[in-house]
Amino acid sequence: MKKIEHIGIAVKNLESANLLYKSLLGEAHYKEEEVVSEHVKTSFFKTGENKIELLESTDPNGPIARFIEKKGEGIHHIAFDVEDIFAEMERLKAEGFVLLNETPKKGADNKLVCFVHPKGTHGVLVELCQEIK
Ligand code: ZN
Repeated sequence: MKKIEHIGIAVKNLESANLLYKSLLGEAHYKEEEVVSEHVKTSFFKTGENKIELLESTDPNGPIARFIEKKGEGIHHIAFDVEDIFAEMERLKAEGFVLLNETPKKGADNKLVCFVHPKGTHGVLVELCQEIK
């Protein structure tokens, strides 16, 4: 894994969270993107080499809505930048990690993504992401 690519934060309302994170980080978000398959609206902020991804659910039964219901707003996942997502998935499977998807999915921000089950990572949902070239 190359570096932390972004940290995903679950929020109830993207519009007000955008304003707050703009004040916090001193710079507005650079893109908003809906990922229909994940029932989520996302917003991205640059923080030097890394990014912050805010996630608002578009569906009361979507994964972000369920997360907020259980745990409240806050850090939802940590995403690592990988060179070859297929190779990393194979490596992690061989190490005994449980992957939440068998093949990479198209995520936000022009990425192929795969999630690692938080039960095997001390409670942290880990996302692998590879830039689509
Ligand atoms: Zn993410």
